[in-house]
Amino acid sequence: MYANIIIDISHESVDRVFQYRIPEALEGKIEAGVQVNIPFGAGNRLRKGYVVEVTGQAQYDASRIKEVDSLAEGSVSVQSQLIRLAWWMKERYGSTMNQALRTVLPVKQKVRRVPRRRIRCLLEEGELEAAIEEAGKKGYKARFRLLTALKERGSLSWEQDMKALKITAAVLEPLRKAGVIAVEEEEQYRNPLMEMRRLAEGAKLGQAPEKLLLSGEQIRAVQGIWGDYSRGIRGTYLIHGVTGSGKTEVYMELMARVIREGRQAIVLIPEISLTWQTVMRFYRRFGERISVLNSRMSLGERYDQYERARKGEIDIIVGPRSALFAPFERQGLIVIDEEHENSYRSELAPRYDAREAAAERARMSGASLILGSATPSLESYLRAKEGAYGLFVLKERARQEALLPRVEVVDLRRELAQGNRSIFSRRLKELIEDRLHKKEQSMLFINRRGYANFVSCRSCGEAIKCPHCDVTLTLHRNGRMLCHYCGYSAAQPKVCPSCGSPYIAPFGTGTQKIEEMAAGLFPGARILRMDLDTTSKKGGHQEILSAFARGEADILIGTQMIVKGHDFPKVTLVGAMAADLSLYASDYRCGEETFDLLTQAAGRAGRGEIPGNVVIQTYQPDHYSIQTAARQDYEAFFSQELAYRRLLGYPPAMGLLTIQMASPDPEALGLAASRVSELVREGEEAPAFIGPVNAPVYKVNDIYRKILYIKHENYDILIQIRKRAEACLREWERRAKVLAQYDIR
Ligand code: ADP
Ligand code: ZN
Ligand code: ZN
Repeated sequence: MYANIIIDISHESVDRVFQYRIPEALEGKIEAGVQVNIPFGAGNRLRKGYVVEVTGQAQYDASRIKEVDSLAEGSVSVQSQLIRLAWWMKERYGSTMNQALRTVLPVKQKVRRVPRRRIRCLLEEGELEAAIEEAGKKGYKARFRLLTALKERGSLSWEQDMKALKITAAVLEPLRKAGVIAVEEEEQYRNPLMEMRRLAEGAKLGQAPEKLLLSGEQIRAVQGIWGDYSRGIRGTYLIHGVTGSGKTEVYMELMARVIREGRQAIVLIPEISLTWQTVMRFYRRFGERISVLNSRMSLGERYDQYERARKGEIDIIVGPRSALFAPFERQGLIVIDEEHENSYRSELAPRYDAREAAAERARMSGASLILGSATPSLESYLRAKEGAYGLFVLKERARQEALLPRVEVVDLRRELAQGNRSIFSRRLKELIEDRLHKKEQSMLFINRRGYANFVSCRSCGEAIKCPHCDVTLTLHRNGRMLCHYCGYSAAQPKVCPSCGSPYIAPFGTGTQKIEEMAAGLFPGARILRMDLDTTSKKGGHQEILSAFARGEADILIGTQMIVKGHDFPKVTLVGAMAADLSLYASDYRCGEETFDLLTQAAGRAGRGEIPGNVVIQTYQPDHYSIQTAARQDYEAFFSQELAYRRLLGYPPAMGLLTIQMASPDPEALGLAASRVSELVREGEEAPAFIGPVNAPVYKVNDIYRKILYIKHENYDILIQIRKRAEACLREWERRAKVLAQYDIR
């Protein structure tokens, strides 16, 4: 047997794997994660290395492979643990060991601190117009280009934009002196701690918060989990508590106790809910012993935080999915908040589920795991009901004055039958007017991004599609049509490209459309819109949300983004514009997603002292997802949804392996797909399978995609099948550029 070994794990080159023979005496003792001494380099000096894989296959001439010298003393370090976790992920989800290692181990990267400067315009709009005009008249071409660009974009980067616009310092300097522009150093290196400190000072939150008296429900959860913990039992627990029921207080109380015992804690929060509000709450409680990760941090910044964790300088790390791999040596607790969120599944190989990986890491390190949600995933709730997880329920909102909102369902078909063709039902319109009158805030959302704004021909029915992808182009207000998959854009044509008819027009409802209609219906109302288009332009959704929180608008319009995890005390009305839109997704989980979204949305209304209203507009008022969400009845939803999954054999009733194959060559793709499905069929396990079928969007960026779904009640059998499929498809990958991705749940 041979051991593949890496030597420097904190390096970009974890892919430099060296192979050593395992001597007979050590056989059976060496597995992934074990630290060994090996002769290395010309002088054969002994060095420490980590075993990442044990294999029967020699990579090169077996006679030239050196032998492992010995096991390294005391080799149960956190690195060993993470390498074992990587191995587990590779086995379970399907990926190369290298991909798994890169997911789990922090990569050291030199942080290049090149100065970055931004140029801002200090003129008011009218003044800027005048300055542009003057520059044009006087023939100052560079100045004209600069000011026009500033007018369009607000600010420019010195390093990139000045080069692109061919503008030199000689043009900028006089403008700076004249106070037309300002040049600012951009903050290069974000130290989350410094940012928190600054914010805490700004908000005068430096002093310790007053201690809350936990409610009876909260105490039961804390004592239940702590009772186990202090008796040495490390379990998995699910806290099912409505939004605002005080789950976060429960986590913090348990974290405090675990830390008092000298252990460390990881808290996973979906990126979208990782607002400063949330971070500050943890900071106020735990001070500088915490660190925060987020996706805006560079690899180097992330690495620094991991280093602090490894050295024991911090006790708590808060972050999205990847914070799970913080190298804590004395792990005591892992918390996963909003555990039902899709973002806990990775989209990249290995496509791991952070909840499962967390359970594995907790098991390896002797930590307890807490999952929390107002709308637990079906999987977790089922496990809790079956007794595999401890279950705690928080039914009441923690602050007495925060009442649960009143929810109404409006049937849009009846609105139409009664002559209302607007996308605003009469009830919703009436309530919005009422809120405008009372100076309270409203939130309106649709269950997806404005995809529906496509352009189609009224004569032949043809919709205009992206030439590279199988999707319709989305019309934006500037008159251009955009592909949301590949970025292709084109001007809206005057006549139909298929039949030449001039009756070609946009169709459907998106956030922009709702904004326009709201502006017409409620003149004088201040409206903010938040979707991917506005957030990429205006520098992050955080700014839009803060503006709304400061009361700078009466109505916030957006996609589901706006209803997730933000706390706006002045919002007393939430409207779901077309609640069933998300029910048409071609996915077995769309009922669950719709329920989650509507329930979370309802949780946004009336978090402060004033009770809230929720209006759910829909064409399917009788659908159980909508009915149960309107009643805020998770139990009823759970039992209906579980019955449906059992009937159709979907998770968690059965395991589901999805193999997605992609290739620029549709013929090779077809052959590979049918070869793999034959292979699956030949096995003795007799799985149920669907496909291979074309992916919902068959062609993206000129790459074709097919999907094969394989179902079995035995998870291990699915893993076996995946391994066989992997071996088969690796051949195709080499021969015909067919790339495969595996997803198992
Ligand atoms: P969740 O995490 O379930 O959404 P939070 O922990 O954020 O709930 O609590 C919601 C609000 O109630 C917060 O403002 C929090 O400070 C407050 N709160 C939580 N527990 C208590 C308590 N026992 N007494 C008073 N207020 C509480
Ligand atoms: Zn046509
Ligand atoms: Zn495209």
